[in-house]
This record gives sequence, structure tokens and C-alpha cells, in this order.
Amino acid sequence: MSRFLDEKFSALKEYVPGEQPRDKKYIKLNTNESPFPPSVSVLEAVNSEEVKNLRLYSDPSNKALKEKLAEIYKVGPDNIYVSNGSDDILNFAFMAFGDRGAAFPDITYGFYKVFAKLYGIDSQIIPLEEDFAIDENKYFGLDKLIVIANPNAPTGLSLSLDKIEKIVSSNKNSVVLIDEAYVDFGGESCYNLIDKYDNLLVVRTFSKSRSLAGARLGFAIASKEIIKDLEKLKFSTNPYDINRLTQAAGVAALEQDDYYTANCKKIIENREFTANALKEMGFSVIDSDANFLFVKSDKISGLDFYLKLKEKGVLIRHFTDERICEYNRVTIGSREEMEIFLEKTAEILN
Ligand SMILES: *Cc1c(COP(=O)(O)O)cnc(C)c1O
Repeated sequence: MSRFLDEKFSALKEYVPGEQPRDKKYIKLNTNESPFPPSVSVLEAVNSEEVKNLRLYSDPSNKALKEKLAEIYKVGPDNIYVSNGSDDILNFAFMAFGDRGAAFPDITYGFYKVFAKLYGIDSQIIPLEEDFAIDENKYFGLDKLIVIANPNAPTGLSLSLDKIEKIVSSNKNSVVLIDEAYVDFGGESCYNLIDKYDNLLVVRTFSKSRSLAGARLGFAIASKEIIKDLEKLKFSTNPYDINRLTQAAGVAALEQDDYYTANCKKIIENREFTANALKEMGFSVIDSDANFLFVKSDKISGLDFYLKLKEKGVLIRHFTDERICEYNRVTIGSREEMEIFLEKTAEILN
């Protein structure tokens, strides 16, 4: 820390991303990336012609992307906001809508509490139930920014649409942000409710189901007014936040959306395959609607399992939070990757 840093930032605890080691080649089951490459349409769109165009600024209105997303999700282009990764939308939401405080679960995406701290927002941390479920009743009538990942991470559990609607409808005077980063793997999206509730902000990403984690592309679906608020912040900070290559990749990905739908189906199959195999080995496995499993074994500590797998070239995500330190989050990869993971797991347990 330099002696120049504003005092209000000195106590900030940054978000720690999952490790991206460069020392050797791992089977990476630790950051919920897709095992599948982007579609052929993306490979073709990000070509040398587009690279030559990098001398020009990108389109700050993201017109092509918004129109394509509007067509797929059957909403207006002005109900869509596009961002440099969905983390950026979370950032703006805390910046813009958190003045009366924020509420989110104790076990959830670790970035929420970082943003709350960054903006000095009072956080009401609501513990998950014993079985890691979210009790929707605890979010009724809070009158503050509510942030829920659905499906939740790292548990993989989801809330049904009617429960989400009850939370949204009981908090009409505050924004309810539903982070649907994993919804394509089995959850129920709530974006259709935006016509009914002007306080609903649905956040999505191309990072998980659309194989573009490295391109950094997220989007939001919400009322025109909320979208305008997000645009206001973007044009007050970084108008060209999405680069040309990512814009081209995003549009091209949406043109071949069937490819990604098929990949999600494969991930769901691999998830069920892996869950069953782990249960046979005595693991407790939480029902997941996401592209990962949250698992623990009585035979080995969470930390040990993570470390031993790493030694064998397989990375999974371990968390140090007391409530979940015996668990690990395992990203669902290709069938071959999951077979290797299971083989190494069996070796470790024996
Ligand atoms: C991965 C993830 C994000 C961030 O996605 P990016 O679009 O890559 O920034 C947001 N929320 C949750 C719950 C995630 O798991």
C-alpha cells in the first residue's frame, strides 16, 4: 500500500479469484469454465479483419449485441445492458442501488461482500438453512438491495420461479438482483418477470455456458429504467468497456446458440454421471442445477482432498470459510476429464 491510498480503501479485502496456475497443465475443475471451445462462428468472427479494426473504438452502444440478445430472449433491446463481464454489472448495482443497504446469503458468490465493502454499504448477511437452501421468507420486505445467485454458488441449489417472484414482489421499493450465471445448466430463469416488476435486475454471463470466460462478456435484463441507470454509470466511467473482438465473439456466439444449448446438455449428463460415481464412493453431493458439484467426504478433509488432487494434476476449488471448509466445488468438465477426476479421487481414498 502506498501512503497515497485513500483511507477508505485501506481496509478493503479484495476478491480472490480461483487459481489460474501456469506451472504445469492441470485438469481445471476449479473456476467453472466450459470444457468446450467457443462455436465455429466465434472462431470465424474473431479474424484478422477484425483485428485490423482494433485501431477503431468499439461501438459504445453495443447495438449488434443488444439486438441479438433481445431477439433470443424476446425482450426489447432497451431491456438489455451489456458489460465487460457480469462482475461489472454487480459492481454497478452495488454502486447505484445499495444506499439503503444490501442483503445476501452467508454462503454465496464471494464478490458480493467485496462490493458492499467497497461502497461502504451495510450488509445484512442471511445464513443459508442447515441444508444450504435459501429460505425465501427471510428476504421478504427488506427494503434494501437484495442479491441472490440462482442457482447459488458454490452450493448449486436453486430457488423456484414462484419463490423468486415472492421476493421480488415483496420488495417493490428496492432492486432485487438475481445473478443467473449458472441458470443454463438447469435453473429456472426469472427474466420474464421484468414486464411485471420494474425492480428486478437479472444478471447473466457468457463466461460459463457460452464458453467465453476469457472474452469478458456479461449482460443484464431489466426494466428500461434500470438499464438506463446502468448505462449512466457506464458512460460516466468507461464507455468503450467491451472491446471489438469480444463484441464480435458475442454476436457470433449467439448466432450459433444451438451449439451452446447442446453443450449444456452434455454438462448436465456429465454432472449426473459424476454425482452418482461420487455418491458410490461415499461422498455427500448436493443436488446441483449448475455446472459444478459441491461435495464432501467423511474419509478425507476438504483441504486434504483439494491438495492431494492438485498433486495429481486436478484442480478443484476449496473454500476456507468455516461453514463450508469440508466441502469442495468441482466444475463439471468433459466426460474424459470427469473420468480422470474420479480415478484420482478413488486413488486418494484408497
Ligand atoms: C462466474 C460468476 C460471475 C462472474 O462472471 P463474469 O461474467 O465472468 O464476470 C458472476 N456471478 C456468479 C455467481 C459467478 O459464479
